[in-house]
Amino acid sequence: MSEVPPVSRAGTRPGISPSPSRIDIVTLFPGMFEGPLRESILGRARARGLVEIQIHSLREHGGGRHQVTDDAPFGGGGGMILKTEPLAACLEGIRREDSWVVLLDPAGRRFTQPVARELARRPHLILMCGRYEGVDERVREHLVDEELSIGDYVLTGGELAALVVADAVTRLHPGVLGDQAAPDRDSFSRGLLEHPQYTRPEDWQGWTVPAALLSGDHGRVDRWRRCMAVWRTWQRRPDLLETADLSPEEQKWLDGFSQGRVPSDYVS
Ligand code: SAH
Repeated sequence: MSEVPPVSRAGTRPGISPSPSRIDIVTLFPGMFEGPLRESILGRARARGLVEIQIHSLREHGGGRHQVTDDAPFGGGGGMILKTEPLAACLEGIRREDSWVVLLDPAGRRFTQPVARELARRPHLILMCGRYEGVDERVREHLVDEELSIGDYVLTGGELAALVVADAVTRLHPGVLGDQAAPDRDSFSRGLLEHPQYTRPEDWQGWTVPAALLSGDHGRVDRWRRCMAVWRTWQRRPDLLETADLSPEEQKWLDGFSQGRVPSDYVS
């Protein structure tokens, strides 16, 4: 820890564990993490000591001269299953009192933004990546706190899923994004999708930017953005509106959309 630079606590967000927090990832393929953890925002967050992410090679805990980590399934059938012993041995060296151990698995709880926020409150996450046909059932039953799925499709391994979780959780930590307020404005933060965004030029080949965004009037910009966020969510993800946290004005817009109104009836 001594090489980790001190972290300012000034920007601490309520409910997010104070930085630095730690994520340990257990995998048969450590090389898969090199690029994603080194580049851009994640790379910078690690370099600044805002989050510590360590990769652990499961192979080192494999049995025998060949460091075997998988075996054929009892009962027959194709594919290989990750064995319990190497995962247990690896976990033993990493687990702390305050660890939350996650197995990435298609049968797990669906990973969403609220779950990312929940995990960001944990001081120590351990992400275990399955491979091949998956892991011995006793791993799920006895070694992990929960299973998470990143969606209803099957990957070749848990590595990409672990990177998705590590990325979504890390960007919630104070100081990781340049703009402190950004995570609160992103899609899903209030159960809504984000409003449309534009940057220069104002007019590109006749494609223009909405007047409200150029007005310099913060109140007008804010109303336009909120109205467009409600509109976009209503159009694309109406399922989110069942639990969205709407103000009376936003609710009024939503009721209007259901009756055939459009955003330009309310904001311009
Ligand atoms: N036979 C398994 C799939 C194994 S895929 C089944 O039918 O459920 C191999 C590994 O990839 C899994 O052990 C898991 O760690 C990872 N994986 C695959 N799809 C995933 C998903 N949608 N979310 C999280 N992890 C996934």
